[in-house]
Amino acid sequence: MLKILLAALFLGLTLNASDPWINIILYHRVLPKPEAAYDVAVEDFEKQMEYLKESYDVISMSDAVDYIRQVKPLVNNAVVITFDDGDVSIYNNAFPILKKYRFPFAVFIYTNIVKEGPHAMKWTHMKNLLDYGAEIGSHSVSHGYLHKRLKEESEEQYLARLRHELVDSKNLLESSLGVPVRYFAYPYGRYNETVKEEACKAGYEAILTVRGYENFPGDDLMRLNRRVVQRSTTPDSFIKTFTVQQRKSLKDGDKDF
Ligand SMILES: [Zn+2]
Repeated sequence: MLKILLAALFLGLTLNASDPWINIILYHRVLPKPEAAYDVAVEDFEKQMEYLKESYDVISMSDAVDYIRQVKPLVNNAVVITFDDGDVSIYNNAFPILKKYRFPFAVFIYTNIVKEGPHAMKWTHMKNLLDYGAEIGSHSVSHGYLHKRLKEESEEQYLARLRHELVDSKNLLESSLGVPVRYFAYPYGRYNETVKEEACKAGYEAILTVRGYENFPGDDLMRLNRRVVQRSTTPDSFIKTFTVQQRKSLKDGDKDF
């Protein structure tokens, strides 16, 4: 806690002494040398995990869902670590560090990636992650945009496409891995009310956006906030992510993507 206070003072910020919250953070690829904007250097990732170990409770998605459902009371600010897409660098570079710190984490896979070649995780990689205690969620089948009906699509065809992306990805992950897939991450964080409804019907218990806020007990589980960590994330901005409350609550009708 002292460290958090010092970090806040260092940044010239004051802590808000209100209810605790959960930050869900998102990574894509963790590489020795970042290539794209959404990559994080292995060295930076290690430092970020070290900071979390010293200062925060890192919890699983399932625990976060329980806190947000208010099944159990959230006492301290907590952090959930997530990865999207299924790049093999998650397995090769991030996993050893996460194991070292014994952190829980969740990986959201778009199922077409499995056949994309050497950059992608295979089913055996995912099974090893599950054996460790990580959670696997769906990130659709094709990683397409779900929030817009295509020009050439009828309403019926659009619904069929949504169901394919939401249901078939869940079914394939469940049958290949032998575990229930309870969570979904919207590709690009984009969705609309129809996507949300269809995701509920598909049986997902919680869904993640990339709206960069924290989450509070009682929030809507079908559009949880998540903060992207990327190459441009500096040590100060990483700390700020956890120490500064950006919102008090998100009301229905607030602008979504
Ligand atoms: Zn993605």
